[in-house]
Amino acid sequence: MTERVDGACLCGAIAFHVELPTLFCGHCHCSMCRRNHGAAFVTWFRVPNGQLAIDEGAGELVRHTSSEHGTRTFCGRCGSSLFCENSRHPEDIDVVLANMHGPIDRLPQFHFYFDDRVDWVALGDELPRLGGGSGVEPLAPVGGGGGETDGV
Ligand SMILES: [Zn+2]
Ligand SMILES: [Zn+2]
Repeated sequence: MTERVDGACLCGAIAFHVELPTLFCGHCHCSMCRRNHGAAFVTWFRVPNGQLAIDEGAGELVRHTSSEHGTRTFCGRCGSSLFCENSRHPEDIDVVLANMHGPIDRLPQFHFYFDDRVDWVALGDELPRLGGGSGVEPLAPVGGGGGETDGV
């Protein structure tokens, strides 16, 4: 039997569930996620499309095309950000971890788009910092001594 975790928006109009396993989980620091949530960063996990199901309130879902590749879905009643689809990986969907009622099968694994982060939050964890043009390239460790590159 597959393990499932339930989730909902703030007002409860939309209820959904995901089936485990997830593909990954990470903190996104990109400006669109930050603005979309009114938050310093947003924690997402990814599942194949077939592992996400809307149980209640499908008619309340509102889709917003936020970029050339991305479509974000939120609750039309309360505004909770719920999902993000990306045409670069159309077979998978990203889900906001904070809307889940219980733990998924992993903890956040990394920070991505980390060089777009705000400067008013200090992070003390040891998770890998990813960024660059794709958002997921390894970045030099913060405070890793020197910081000067050899121009490679
Ligand atoms: Zn809602
Ligand atoms: Zn983002």
